[in-house]
Amino acid sequence: MQIPLLRLQCGVNSYDWGKVGHESAAARYAATTAPSDFSIESEKPYAELWMGTHPSLPSKDLGTQRSLLDLVQDNQALMSIEITERYGGKLPFLFKVLSIRKALSIQAHPNKKLAEQLHERDSSNYPDDNHKPEMTIAITPFEGLCGFRPLAEIAHFLKAIEPLRNLIGSQAVSDFEETIRGNEESSDEATVQKNKDALRSLFTKLMESKSENIESASKELVALAENTPTRFGVLSGDVATNPSNPEELAGIIRRLDSQFPSDIGLFVFFFLNFIKLSPGEAMFLKADDIHAYVSGDIIECMASSDNVVRAGFTPKFKDIDTLTQMLTYSYAPIEEQKLVPTDYPYATLNAAAYSSASSCLLYDPPIEEFSVLKTDLKRTGAKVTFDPIEGPSILICTGGQGRITVGSKTEEVQEGFVFFIGATAECVIEKTGRGDGDENVFTTYKAFCELTGKEAMANGH
Ligand SMILES: [Zn+2]
Repeated sequence: MQIPLLRLQCGVNSYDWGKVGHESAAARYAATTAPSDFSIESEKPYAELWMGTHPSLPSKDLGTQRSLLDLVQDNQALMSIEITERYGGKLPFLFKVLSIRKALSIQAHPNKKLAEQLHERDSSNYPDDNHKPEMTIAITPFEGLCGFRPLAEIAHFLKAIEPLRNLIGSQAVSDFEETIRGNEESSDEATVQKNKDALRSLFTKLMESKSENIESASKELVALAENTPTRFGVLSGDVATNPSNPEELAGIIRRLDSQFPSDIGLFVFFFLNFIKLSPGEAMFLKADDIHAYVSGDIIECMASSDNVVRAGFTPKFKDIDTLTQMLTYSYAPIEEQKLVPTDYPYATLNAAAYSSASSCLLYDPPIEEFSVLKTDLKRTGAKVTFDPIEGPSILICTGGQGRITVGSKTEEVQEGFVFFIGATAECVIEKTGRGDGDENVFTTYKAFCELTGKEAMANGH
């Protein structure tokens, strides 16, 4: 059999929210393997590099120019028979690099059951019947919105931000305040459910606001952000990543307003956690979690689906009824929204890797379609050997220089290079670049899917 290591050629799309020209990591990565007719235009936005078999922007084998989809369907061993059968001959995940200049729509993705119903009812807006769990790992400092804030923070904003209170209406606001008062921190199940119901009514009321009311309220909001930004402070009790700095919050409102004037998203902002991720930090968005990306370059991995229910910061179709009904209304501090990586036990580091504090971290969300490994090799000659897995992998390099070896095949690796690695292949990566500084670290991200291998390997070790 052919050695299952393929260098991939991956396309980048040009949505309006992407970073412009060489600012865009997605564009720079794409340019390293692009066909000869691609060059980065300095004025053009580049949003997403796609790595996988999705028909909207399928990856190709650089050598033969055959699509990855063709290749894995011709040779089922590349993904393993089990995964081929389970996912209909397609890669179970879609791996991306996103470069975000301007906020993406506030959205949630349906769970499997809801996805089936939506697709049957409205296949033009819901193109498939699959769920779409997503994981985000920052490669440059990232800002986003994720999940509902703790109730005390929402209550604070309802008090502090007059245009928000007025837009929702004082009756709905005081109903909410009465229900949650003294119960904000309760863990009693019935009380939590009451709190969630109250949050649902309040949020639904906001989402049903008339556009002329949103327009006048957002003018007042932006005036407030410009003139008295101190009003935006959160309540006492510092959560490290939550901007206790009111000027920062007000600044974000001004920035979002310049991107989406008079948008309901400016008010949804006060309901959601504002999250900042440093490079290497991650969050996982399970089905029915509300979220939005605001800025930064990220690695994203998701199940293969296009189902999005939108709520703001978008000119596209908004399905308010579906959105307000589907959300879980779980409210929690930011730290609980993050996904913390763990040491990956099925990789062997050589002495140069150990002594230079090189690392191999596993981001393992509670779903079967994908996990991601981040490997940082910090010294020339540092090497990591991955045990074979019973499933496909895609690897991208985001910095430094090295090489990758599968069987008797070795390829050079540089920033932006992307490889497909077939099932059951032992894979070795090694840093060849010189220099010990942070800017020379050889960093790769490897997405993979393995259905039964985890248990099997745990027994074998
Ligand atoms: Zn999403």
